[in-house]
Amino acid sequence: LRSPYHGGHLEVIVGPMFSGKSEELIRRVTRAVIARQRVQVFKPALDDRYHESAVASHAGRTVNAVAVRSARDIRAYLSGEGSLLHAPGDTLPDVIGIDEVQFLDAAIIPLALELADAGVRVILAGLDQDFRAEPFGFIPELLARAESVEKLTAICTVCGAPATRSQRLIGGQPAHFDDPVVLVGAEESYEARCRVHHVLQP
Ligand code: ADP
Repeated sequence: LRSPYHGGHLEVIVGPMFSGKSEELIRRVTRAVIARQRVQVFKPALDDRYHESAVASHAGRTVNAVAVRSARDIRAYLSGEGSLLHAPGDTLPDVIGIDEVQFLDAAIIPLALELADAGVRVILAGLDQDFRAEPFGFIPELLARAESVEKLTAICTVCGAPATRSQRLIGGQPAHFDDPVVLVGAEESYEARCRVHHVLQP
C-alpha cells in the first residue's frame, strides 16, 4: 500500500448524507491496518467527554475511534496530555482518520496541515453542504488545501438519480431555509436528494 505522495498528505472525502463517506473512510483505514500501519481514527463526541467509540457506516461496518469535542482534544490525545486513554507516546500514527469532520471546529485545518507536514496521511470525511445546500462551515478550505478530494453521491430517494444534497425533513415536511440547525422536540429526518428534488421552504 504505497502512497503516491512523498510523505504526509491530506485526503478529503465529501458528499451528502448516505453517500458512503463513512464506508470509504473505513475502507481506506482498514487497508492501512492490513498494511500494518499505525492508524488512529477520531469522530466528534456528542457529549462532553472524550472516550473510546467507533465510526459506523449506515450499512453497519465499524472501526474503532476516539470521540472528541474539538481539534484541541485531538492534539491533546496525540501528545498524551491529560489523556484518559492510553497515550500513543511521542510517535505520531502513520494514518489519522476523522469522520463527520464538519461537526468539529476550524482549528482542524491548521492541525491537519501540521500533521500532513509531519508525515502523517490525514483522511477527513464529512458533509460538503448543509441542509440548505450551502457550503458547510470550514469544509471549503479543506477542499482547497487537500492533495486529494473524493466527492461521493448517494441515491436520490425521489427519483433514483445521483444525490448531491441532504434533504432535511421536519415532521415529514421540507425544512425552511431559516429553521434553526437544532430544533428541540421536532421529529426530524434526512434523505439524500438530487438537485431537482432538494426542496427548501421559503
Ligand atoms: P455517509 O457516511 O455518507 O452518511 P455511510 O457510509 O454511513 O454514508 O452509508 C452509506 C450506505 O447507506 C450505503 O452503502 C447504503 O447501504 C445506505 N443507504 C441508505 N440510503 C441510501 C441512499 N439514499 N443512497 C445511497 N445509499 C444509501
